[in-house]
Amino acid sequence: MQMKTDGIVLREQKYNENDRLLTVLTRKYGLVYAYARGADKLKSRLSTATKQFCYSDFILFKNKERCLVDTADSKKIFFGISSSLEKLALSSYLAQLCIYLSPQSDDSEQILRLLLNCLYMLDENKRSDEFIKPLFELRLASLCGFMPNLVACSNCLTYESENMYLDAEKGEIICSDCAEKIGIDITRCALLTPSVLTAMRHIVFSDFNKLFSFKTSQETLEMLGSICEWYLKDKLEHHFETLDFYHSVK
Ligand SMILES: [Zn+2]
Repeated sequence: MQMKTDGIVLREQKYNENDRLLTVLTRKYGLVYAYARGADKLKSRLSTATKQFCYSDFILFKNKERCLVDTADSKKIFFGISSSLEKLALSSYLAQLCIYLSPQSDDSEQILRLLLNCLYMLDENKRSDEFIKPLFELRLASLCGFMPNLVACSNCLTYESENMYLDAEKGEIICSDCAEKIGIDITRCALLTPSVLTAMRHIVFSDFNKLFSFKTSQETLEMLGSICEWYLKDKLEHHFETLDFYHSVK
């Protein structure tokens, strides 16, 4: 079977002497594992377009068990990412999140769009890594079935309150009055200031074309960063070594 699609290489692993095993997030077929034969040879026509973070047009051949890259033409290479260790580390984490989460979604096109735009923002220095990380974590989680209900307090339906708590396990928010009344264990929740909640609502609910256009203070961004990371950790219960690497270089 021939498969024609565009996609981004999330991971490349050496295989045999000159081959690469690629993990590609494709627009049409979701996550695909494909062998690029001879891609490690010096003059291979597959060499550039099958590198990690290269966005390419692919023609793939699938027989019974294996998928092979027939042709690959690069459309975009994010050269700027490798200019800083922080950006490279964050991009690796975003790629690992996609490998882990995208099989849980039917909409690989939306995930591809999100990833490409985040890499573009990092590549062109249009947004900082502190801005991109929580945005990607929360929006990706929402696309893959882990969207928290941030509309209103789950008990009294109030939209705004001085402080709200996010319960990651239930995936909902509760206002401080209700939390006290009901006797919620707030040590298991994250405290959301109004500005953090506003940013989270924007990330989850905004149209894609407005997704990157919110502004917030550095202090809010830092809180947002740790809360989105905590939320994902709690929901997924999976260890991402690329996240450790990102923190080690920050
Ligand atoms: Zn309430």
